[in-house]
Amino acid sequence: MKKHNFSAGPCILPQEVLKKASDAILNFNGIDLSLIEISHRSKDFIAVMDKAQELALEHLGLQNKGYKALFLQGGASTQFLNVAYNLLNKKAAYLNTGTWSTKAIKEAKLFGEIVEVASSKDANFNYIPKGYAIPSDIDYFHCTSNNTIFGTQIKDFPKVSAPLVCDMSSDIFSRQLDFSKFDIIYAGAQKNMGPAGTTLVVIKEEVLGKVDRAIPSMLDYRVHAEKDSMFNTPPVFAVYVSMLTLQWLKDLGGITEIEKRNNAKAELIYSEIDRNPLFKGFAAKEDRSPMNATFNLVDEAHKDTFDALAKEAGLNGINGHRSVGGYRASMYNALPIESVQVLVDAMQELERKA
Ligand code: PMP
Repeated sequence: MKKHNFSAGPCILPQEVLKKASDAILNFNGIDLSLIEISHRSKDFIAVMDKAQELALEHLGLQNKGYKALFLQGGASTQFLNVAYNLLNKKAAYLNTGTWSTKAIKEAKLFGEIVEVASSKDANFNYIPKGYAIPSDIDYFHCTSNNTIFGTQIKDFPKVSAPLVCDMSSDIFSRQLDFSKFDIIYAGAQKNMGPAGTTLVVIKEEVLGKVDRAIPSMLDYRVHAEKDSMFNTPPVFAVYVSMLTLQWLKDLGGITEIEKRNNAKAELIYSEIDRNPLFKGFAAKEDRSPMNATFNLVDEAHKDTFDALAKEAGLNGINGHRSVGGYRASMYNALPIESVQVLVDAMQELERKA
Protein backbone atom coordinates (compact mmCIF):
# COMPACT_ATOMS: atom_id res chain seq x y z
CA MET A 1 0.00 0.00 0.00
CA LYS A 2 1.26 3.49 -0.79
CA LYS A 3 2.14 5.75 2.10
CA HIS A 4 0.13 8.79 3.11
CA ASN A 5 2.43 11.41 1.72
CA PHE A 6 2.56 14.68 3.68
CA SER A 7 5.94 15.64 2.27
CA ALA A 8 6.56 19.41 2.02
CA GLY A 9 8.00 19.35 -1.48
CA PRO A 10 8.82 17.53 -3.63
CA CYS A 11 5.54 16.02 -2.63
CA ILE A 12 2.57 13.93 -3.57
CA LEU A 13 1.44 14.02 -7.19
CA PRO A 14 -1.75 12.50 -8.59
CA GLN A 15 -1.38 8.75 -9.06
CA GLU A 16 -2.72 8.89 -12.63
CA VAL A 17 -0.14 11.56 -13.49
CA LEU A 18 2.66 9.31 -12.22
CA LYS A 19 1.29 6.47 -14.34
CA LYS A 20 1.11 8.59 -17.51
CA ALA A 21 4.57 10.02 -16.85
CA SER A 22 5.99 6.51 -16.44
CA ASP A 23 4.42 5.43 -19.73
CA ALA A 24 5.88 8.46 -21.51
CA ILE A 25 9.36 7.61 -20.26
CA LEU A 26 9.16 4.34 -22.15
CA ASN A 27 7.05 5.30 -25.15
CA PHE A 28 5.82 8.85 -25.57
CA ASN A 29 2.63 9.42 -27.56
CA GLY A 30 3.08 6.00 -29.21
CA ILE A 31 6.10 7.24 -31.20
CA ASP A 32 8.31 4.40 -29.97
CA LEU A 33 10.70 6.83 -28.34
CA SER A 34 10.97 8.13 -24.81
CA LEU A 35 9.83 11.63 -23.90
CA ILE A 36 13.33 12.26 -22.55
CA GLU A 37 15.22 11.12 -25.64
CA ILE A 38 13.56 13.28 -28.28
CA SER A 39 14.37 16.82 -29.32
CA HIS A 40 12.72 19.59 -27.36
CA ARG A 41 12.11 21.14 -30.78
CA SER A 42 10.15 18.13 -32.00
CA LYS A 43 6.48 18.76 -32.66
CA ASP A 44 5.50 16.32 -29.90
CA PHE A 45 7.39 18.27 -27.26
CA ILE A 46 6.47 21.72 -28.53
CA ALA A 47 2.84 20.66 -28.14
CA VAL A 48 3.58 19.78 -24.49
CA MET A 49 5.19 23.14 -23.78
CA ASP A 50 2.37 25.04 -25.49
CA LYS A 51 -0.24 23.10 -23.56
CA ALA A 52 1.54 23.57 -20.21
CA GLN A 53 1.74 27.34 -20.76
CA GLU A 54 -1.87 27.51 -21.91
CA LEU A 55 -3.19 25.49 -18.95
CA ALA A 56 -1.22 27.57 -16.44
CA LEU A 57 -2.74 30.81 -17.75
CA GLU A 58 -6.19 29.26 -18.06
CA HIS A 59 -6.25 28.09 -14.44
CA LEU A 60 -5.21 31.55 -13.28
CA GLY A 61 -7.77 33.27 -15.53
CA LEU A 62 -4.99 35.18 -17.24
CA GLN A 63 -5.44 34.19 -20.87
CA ASN A 64 -5.48 37.10 -23.32
CA LYS A 65 -4.66 39.60 -20.58
CA GLY A 66 -1.10 40.44 -21.55
CA TYR A 67 0.52 37.69 -19.48
CA LYS A 68 3.09 35.08 -20.43
CA ALA A 69 3.61 31.78 -18.61
CA LEU A 70 7.24 30.68 -18.67
CA PHE A 71 8.74 27.38 -17.58
CA LEU A 72 12.27 28.18 -16.44
CA GLN A 73 15.01 26.47 -14.45
CA GLY A 74 16.96 27.25 -11.32
CA GLY A 75 14.10 26.84 -8.86
CA ALA A 76 12.15 29.57 -7.13
CA SER A 77 15.49 30.55 -5.56
CA THR A 78 16.72 31.85 -8.92
CA GLN A 79 13.59 33.99 -9.14
CA PHE A 80 14.69 35.76 -5.95
CA LEU A 81 17.44 37.41 -7.99
CA ASN A 82 15.73 37.28 -11.37
CA VAL A 83 12.87 39.48 -10.22
CA ALA A 84 15.32 42.12 -9.00
CA TYR A 85 17.50 41.81 -12.08
CA ASN A 86 14.51 42.51 -14.34
CA LEU A 87 12.51 44.99 -12.26
CA LEU A 88 14.67 46.79 -9.73
CA ASN A 89 16.08 50.16 -10.69
CA LYS A 90 16.35 51.94 -7.34
CA LYS A 91 14.08 50.71 -4.62
CA ALA A 92 11.71 47.83 -3.91
CA ALA A 93 9.56 46.90 -0.92
CA TYR A 94 9.40 43.41 0.61
CA LEU A 95 7.16 41.82 3.21
CA ASN A 96 9.16 39.39 5.34
CA THR A 97 7.07 36.40 6.37
CA GLY A 98 9.69 33.70 6.69
CA THR A 99 12.78 31.91 5.46
CA TRP A 100 11.93 32.24 1.77
CA SER A 101 11.04 35.94 1.98
CA THR A 102 14.29 36.51 3.87
CA LYS A 103 16.23 34.80 1.12
CA ALA A 104 14.42 36.81 -1.56
CA ILE A 105 15.33 40.03 0.29
CA LYS A 106 18.97 39.00 0.57
CA GLU A 107 19.28 38.49 -3.18
CA ALA A 108 17.38 41.65 -4.12
CA LYS A 109 19.70 43.74 -1.92
CA LEU A 110 22.44 43.07 -4.46
CA PHE A 111 20.50 45.18 -6.97
CA GLY A 112 19.18 48.20 -5.08
CA GLU A 113 17.62 49.56 -1.92
CA ILE A 114 15.21 47.20 -0.21
CA VAL A 115 12.60 48.44 2.24
CA GLU A 116 11.34 45.68 4.52
CA VAL A 117 7.82 46.99 5.14
CA ALA A 118 7.11 44.52 7.96
CA SER A 119 8.41 41.27 9.39
CA SER A 120 7.05 38.58 11.69
CA LYS A 121 10.53 37.44 12.67
CA ASP A 122 9.85 38.65 16.23
CA ALA A 123 7.53 35.66 16.70
CA ASN A 124 9.45 33.10 14.64
CA PHE A 125 7.22 33.96 11.66
CA ASN A 126 4.09 32.43 13.16
CA TYR A 127 1.83 35.19 11.78
CA ILE A 128 1.39 37.46 8.77
CA PRO A 129 2.04 41.15 9.52
CA LYS A 130 -0.87 43.45 8.69
CA GLY A 131 -1.51 47.17 8.48
CA TYR A 132 1.95 48.11 7.29
CA ALA A 133 2.65 51.06 5.01
CA ILE A 134 4.18 50.58 1.58
CA PRO A 135 6.24 53.45 0.16
CA SER A 136 4.97 54.80 -3.14
CA ASP A 137 8.31 55.40 -4.82
CA ILE A 138 9.15 51.74 -5.39
CA ASP A 139 9.78 49.64 -8.48
CA TYR A 140 7.72 46.74 -7.09
CA PHE A 141 6.36 45.10 -3.96
CA HIS A 142 7.26 41.46 -3.19
CA CYS A 143 5.55 38.99 -0.90
CA THR A 144 5.36 35.23 -0.29
CA SER A 145 1.77 34.00 -0.43
CA ASN A 146 2.31 30.81 1.56
CA ASN A 147 5.08 30.18 4.04
CA THR A 148 5.86 26.51 3.59
CA ILE A 149 8.01 26.18 6.71
CA PHE A 150 5.89 28.13 9.19
CA GLY A 151 2.44 27.21 7.86
CA THR A 152 1.09 30.71 7.36
CA GLN A 153 -0.71 32.13 4.34
CA ILE A 154 -1.56 35.64 3.21
CA LYS A 155 -5.34 35.92 2.95
CA ASP A 156 -5.57 39.59 1.90
CA PHE A 157 -2.97 41.06 -0.38
CA PRO A 158 -2.15 44.75 0.00
CA LYS A 159 -3.20 47.26 -2.61
CA VAL A 160 -0.10 48.63 -4.27
CA SER A 161 0.36 51.13 -7.04
CA ALA A 162 3.66 49.52 -8.08
CA PRO A 163 3.90 46.06 -9.69
CA LEU A 164 2.93 43.26 -7.32
CA VAL A 165 5.31 40.28 -7.29
CA CYS A 166 4.49 37.10 -5.43
CA ASP A 167 6.29 33.86 -4.64
CA MET A 168 3.43 31.35 -4.76
CA SER A 169 5.65 28.27 -4.69
CA SER A 170 3.65 26.42 -2.09
CA ASP A 171 0.06 27.43 -2.79
CA ILE A 172 -0.23 28.08 -6.50
CA PHE A 173 -3.33 26.47 -8.06
CA SER A 174 -4.72 25.70 -4.61
CA ARG A 175 -7.12 28.61 -4.12
CA GLN A 176 -8.97 31.16 -6.16
CA LEU A 177 -7.55 34.69 -6.15
CA ASP A 178 -7.86 37.61 -8.52
CA PHE A 179 -4.59 36.74 -10.20
CA SER A 180 -4.82 39.77 -12.47
CA LYS A 181 -3.77 41.89 -9.47
CA PHE A 182 -0.33 40.32 -9.72
CA ASP A 183 2.33 41.36 -12.19
CA ILE A 184 4.75 38.52 -11.56
CA ILE A 185 3.85 35.20 -9.95
CA TYR A 186 6.50 32.55 -9.59
CA ALA A 187 6.46 29.04 -8.21
CA GLY A 188 8.82 26.09 -8.12
CA ALA A 189 6.94 23.18 -9.67
CA GLN A 190 7.58 20.71 -6.89
CA LYS A 191 4.46 21.28 -4.79
CA ASN A 192 1.16 21.62 -6.61
CA MET A 193 2.43 21.33 -10.15
CA GLY A 194 4.98 18.62 -10.80
CA PRO A 195 8.45 17.33 -10.08
CA ALA A 196 11.39 19.54 -9.14
CA GLY A 197 13.27 20.94 -12.11
CA THR A 198 11.13 23.70 -13.50
CA THR A 199 9.76 26.96 -12.16
CA LEU A 200 6.63 28.60 -13.45
CA VAL A 201 6.94 32.35 -13.90
CA VAL A 202 3.81 34.21 -14.94
CA ILE A 203 4.55 37.73 -16.07
CA LYS A 204 2.50 40.70 -17.15
CA GLU A 205 4.64 41.71 -20.07
CA GLU A 206 4.13 45.44 -19.65
CA VAL A 207 6.28 45.47 -16.48
CA LEU A 208 9.36 44.37 -18.38
CA GLY A 209 11.95 46.49 -20.13
CA LYS A 210 12.03 49.23 -17.50
CA VAL A 211 15.42 48.68 -15.89
CA ASP A 212 18.59 50.45 -17.01
CA ARG A 213 21.00 47.56 -16.56
CA ALA A 214 22.00 45.03 -19.18
CA ILE A 215 20.54 41.61 -18.39
CA PRO A 216 22.30 38.37 -19.36
CA SER A 217 20.08 36.45 -21.82
CA MET A 218 19.40 33.48 -19.52
CA LEU A 219 18.16 35.83 -16.81
CA ASP A 220 16.19 38.13 -19.07
CA TYR A 221 12.46 37.46 -18.87
CA ARG A 222 11.97 39.14 -22.25
CA VAL A 223 14.26 36.64 -23.94
CA HIS A 224 12.36 33.69 -22.48
CA ALA A 225 9.01 35.28 -23.25
CA GLU A 226 9.96 35.95 -26.84
CA LYS A 227 11.13 32.34 -27.27
CA ASP A 228 8.11 30.81 -25.48
CA SER A 229 10.33 29.17 -22.83
CA MET A 230 12.44 27.58 -25.58
CA PHE A 231 15.46 29.89 -25.52
CA ASN A 232 17.53 26.92 -24.40
CA THR A 233 16.73 23.28 -23.70
CA PRO A 234 13.85 23.26 -21.24
CA PRO A 235 13.56 20.62 -18.50
CA VAL A 236 11.37 18.43 -20.68
CA PHE A 237 10.33 15.84 -18.10
CA ALA A 238 9.42 18.40 -15.44
CA VAL A 239 7.41 20.43 -17.95
CA TYR A 240 5.62 17.32 -19.21
CA VAL A 241 4.62 16.17 -15.72
CA SER A 242 3.52 19.72 -14.86
CA MET A 243 1.35 19.72 -17.97
CA LEU A 244 -0.22 16.41 -16.93
CA THR A 245 -0.91 17.73 -13.43
CA LEU A 246 -2.46 20.93 -14.77
CA GLN A 247 -4.65 18.81 -17.07
CA TRP A 248 -5.61 16.59 -14.10
CA LEU A 249 -6.63 19.72 -12.20
CA LYS A 250 -8.69 20.97 -15.11
CA ASP A 251 -10.47 17.60 -15.49
CA LEU A 252 -11.52 17.59 -11.85
CA GLY A 253 -12.99 21.09 -12.01
CA GLY A 254 -10.05 23.48 -11.71
CA ILE A 255 -9.04 25.70 -8.82
CA THR A 256 -12.65 26.21 -7.67
CA GLU A 257 -13.09 22.49 -7.02
CA ILE A 258 -9.65 21.85 -5.55
CA GLU A 259 -10.05 24.79 -3.18
CA LYS A 260 -13.16 23.15 -1.71
CA ARG A 261 -11.25 19.92 -1.21
CA ASN A 262 -8.26 21.75 0.28
CA ASN A 263 -10.52 23.63 2.70
CA ALA A 264 -12.15 20.37 3.81
CA LYS A 265 -8.73 18.83 4.49
CA ALA A 266 -7.61 21.94 6.40
CA GLU A 267 -10.79 21.97 8.47
CA LEU A 268 -10.27 18.33 9.40
CA ILE A 269 -6.68 18.69 10.61
CA TYR A 270 -7.01 22.08 12.29
CA SER A 271 -10.13 21.12 14.22
CA GLU A 272 -8.25 18.10 15.58
CA ILE A 273 -5.22 20.26 16.47
CA ASP A 274 -7.55 22.60 18.37
CA ARG A 275 -9.56 19.83 20.02
CA ASN A 276 -6.79 17.44 21.00
CA PRO A 277 -5.23 18.55 24.32
CA LEU A 278 -1.92 16.87 23.42
CA PHE A 279 -1.25 19.17 20.45
CA LYS A 280 -1.04 22.88 19.82
CA GLY A 281 -1.01 24.74 16.51
CA PHE A 282 2.02 26.83 15.62
CA ALA A 283 0.60 29.49 13.28
CA ALA A 284 -1.79 32.27 14.32
CA LYS A 285 -5.31 30.97 13.64
CA GLU A 286 -6.35 33.66 11.17
CA ASP A 287 -3.20 33.12 9.11
CA ARG A 288 -3.24 29.34 8.98
CA SER A 289 -2.23 27.75 5.72
CA PRO A 290 -4.47 25.08 4.19
CA MET A 291 -1.35 23.75 2.46
CA ASN A 292 1.02 23.29 5.42
CA ALA A 293 -0.40 22.71 8.88
CA THR A 294 2.28 23.18 11.55
CA PHE A 295 1.74 21.85 15.07
CA ASN A 296 3.67 20.74 18.11
CA LEU A 297 3.19 18.35 20.97
CA VAL A 298 2.32 20.14 24.20
CA ASP A 299 4.55 17.64 26.00
CA GLU A 300 7.55 16.39 24.02
CA ALA A 301 7.53 13.25 26.17
CA HIS A 302 4.90 11.85 23.80
CA LYS A 303 7.15 12.18 20.77
CA ASP A 304 8.38 8.61 20.50
CA THR A 305 4.89 7.18 20.94
CA PHE A 306 3.37 9.48 18.36
CA ASP A 307 6.19 8.88 15.89
CA ALA A 308 5.70 5.14 16.26
CA LEU A 309 1.94 5.50 15.70
CA ALA A 310 2.57 7.64 12.64
CA LYS A 311 5.01 5.14 11.22
CA GLU A 312 2.64 2.26 11.80
CA ALA A 313 -0.15 4.18 10.03
CA GLY A 314 2.07 4.75 6.96
CA LEU A 315 2.32 8.52 7.44
CA ASN A 316 5.24 9.97 5.51
CA GLY A 317 6.86 13.39 5.75
CA ILE A 318 5.14 14.85 8.82
CA ASN A 319 8.27 15.98 10.67
CA GLY A 320 8.36 19.73 11.13
CA HIS A 321 11.11 21.89 9.66
CA ARG A 322 14.01 22.32 12.08
CA SER A 323 13.17 26.00 12.62
CA VAL A 324 9.70 25.16 13.96
CA GLY A 325 10.12 21.61 15.28
CA GLY A 326 7.11 19.42 15.94
CA TYR A 327 5.09 18.39 12.95
CA ARG A 328 4.06 19.74 9.57
CA ALA A 329 1.34 18.15 7.51
CA SER A 330 1.66 19.37 3.96
CA MET A 331 -1.65 18.83 2.22
CA TYR A 332 -1.05 19.77 -1.38
CA ASN A 333 -3.66 19.41 -4.11
CA ALA A 334 -3.05 15.74 -4.82
CA LEU A 335 -3.34 14.61 -1.18
CA PRO A 336 -6.69 12.87 -0.60
CA ILE A 337 -8.71 13.74 2.50
CA GLU A 338 -8.50 10.06 3.49
CA SER A 339 -4.80 10.59 4.26
CA VAL A 340 -5.65 13.51 6.55
CA GLN A 341 -8.17 11.28 8.31
CA VAL A 342 -5.43 8.70 8.93
CA LEU A 343 -3.29 11.42 10.53
CA VAL A 344 -6.20 12.58 12.68
CA ASP A 345 -6.84 8.98 13.73
CA ALA A 346 -3.19 8.67 14.82
CA MET A 347 -3.51 11.87 16.87
CA GLN A 348 -6.61 10.48 18.56
CA GLU A 349 -4.92 7.16 19.17
CA LEU A 350 -2.14 9.01 20.99
CA GLU A 351 -4.73 10.72 23.16
CA ARG A 352 -6.19 7.31 24.10
CA LYS A 353 -2.74 5.91 24.91
CA ALA A 354 -1.35 8.90 26.79
N1 PMP B 1 9.69 29.79 -1.94
C1 PMP B 1 8.91 28.96 -1.22
C2 PMP B 1 7.63 29.49 -0.65
C3 PMP B 1 9.30 27.64 -1.02
O1 PMP B 1 8.54 26.83 -0.29
C4 PMP B 1 10.52 27.19 -1.58
C5 PMP B 1 10.99 25.76 -1.44
N2 PMP B 1 10.45 24.97 -0.52
C6 PMP B 1 11.30 28.09 -2.30
C7 PMP B 1 10.85 29.37 -2.48
C8 PMP B 1 12.61 27.67 -2.90
O2 PMP B 1 12.34 26.89 -4.02
P1 PMP B 1 13.46 26.14 -4.84
O3 PMP B 1 13.96 25.04 -3.98
O4 PMP B 1 12.69 25.67 -6.04
O5 PMP B 1 14.52 27.10 -5.19
